[in-house]
Amino acid sequence: MIKTLKTFDLKNKTVLLRVDYNVPIENEKVVDDFRIRQTLPTIKFCLDAGAKIVLSSHLGRPKGKKDQDFSLMPVGEALADCLEMPIKFSSDCISEDAHDVTLGLKPGEIHMLENLRFYDEEVKNDYDFSVKLAKHGDIYINDAFGTAHRSHASNVGVAKHFSRKGIGFLIENELNFLSKVLSKPGRPLTLLLGGAKIDTKIDLIDHYIGIADKILIGGGMAFTLLKARGIGVGKSIIDKSKVLSAAELINKAKSKKNIFLPKDVVCSTSVDNGSAQKVYDITKIPQTQMGLDIGPKTIESFSRHISESETVIWNGPMGVFESDFFENGTKSIANHIASCTQNGLVSIMGGGDTASALRRFNLEDKMSHLSTGGGASIELLSGKNLPAIFALEV
Ligand code: AMP
Repeated sequence: MIKTLKTFDLKNKTVLLRVDYNVPIENEKVVDDFRIRQTLPTIKFCLDAGAKIVLSSHLGRPKGKKDQDFSLMPVGEALADCLEMPIKFSSDCISEDAHDVTLGLKPGEIHMLENLRFYDEEVKNDYDFSVKLAKHGDIYINDAFGTAHRSHASNVGVAKHFSRKGIGFLIENELNFLSKVLSKPGRPLTLLLGGAKIDTKIDLIDHYIGIADKILIGGGMAFTLLKARGIGVGKSIIDKSKVLSAAELINKAKSKKNIFLPKDVVCSTSVDNGSAQKVYDITKIPQTQMGLDIGPKTIESFSRHISESETVIWNGPMGVFESDFFENGTKSIANHIASCTQNGLVSIMGGGDTASALRRFNLEDKMSHLSTGGGASIELLSGKNLPAIFALEV
């Protein structure tokens, strides 16, 4: 059984709360506080219930070194602004000083620990490190869905040292939504995939060949599948190490005929040469060109499939949406999903880049569910166990 936040008596207890504050920072300021705002319900609930809170998170990849560029200090400031209250901050997550600050907390106060990944021990799930982290709380609550597919000290190792442990509202909400889709999706169920990297999504495609009614694939990852089909892709990105697995997937999907690849593509000689873009039929990409967005015929056909669906799971942009020249495919599909959602489509969005794209087009609130964890939602939807959730079984 996994316990949820509301089942605990939090009064005067110290809650060690693992959050995912891996947010973009520029000039020592948080530039996108989506992940911070997502944790506010859990934090406010703990504070209202009379708990003391110790927050732990990672930020970026400082590779086990104390590097101020990866300090969580700006995140602490952004959180203090959101909550309109001061927050205590420790410049080390496991030092004696940090433990003293935790010991001195009063109910209703928050103590934020410095980046967990300043220690290599975090990603190595080191036992001693997890013991030191566990000293920060009486109750352990994990609300970091974004890292739930990783076995680290702060989300898996630490859980062993608590008898009282569970999930916060953010994870509860994610699991409720995603497990509903897993157990009884409204059909037709369509999986829409894009983005640059195919390696992280191969298992998902494999799993969904037998489950989804349709799998629509755009973005850079489509070119590895096109290559596996023997189609020339010019200078488009491909993952050579995955061409064989891609061919196996296509073979597996042959009888079901449920994988749909782009019919046409917007190309240029490079991402930086957007003004020279041209649309090509997918079988006619010149050697000198790279595909950087889906073309109009593909937008039309993917949109038709989406209109016919009851559930759409979307992970990964249809093109290089960060560029004005190559955003059209992602923007058109996102707008179409948003309007279908108004008419009853269940739309589940996952992945940092999908979320950034939706934010760029102001469509963030127009989807049924926007997951905070790309990798974690992919693993869960692929039918795998999330180690950080499994670690909370009591
Ligand atoms: P991923 O992390 O695999 O979801 O990839 C996201 C990235 O894929 C975004 O930054 C997009 O710019 C990039 N992307 C999408 N389509 C293409 C493409 N056709 N060629 C190169 N990059 C792409």
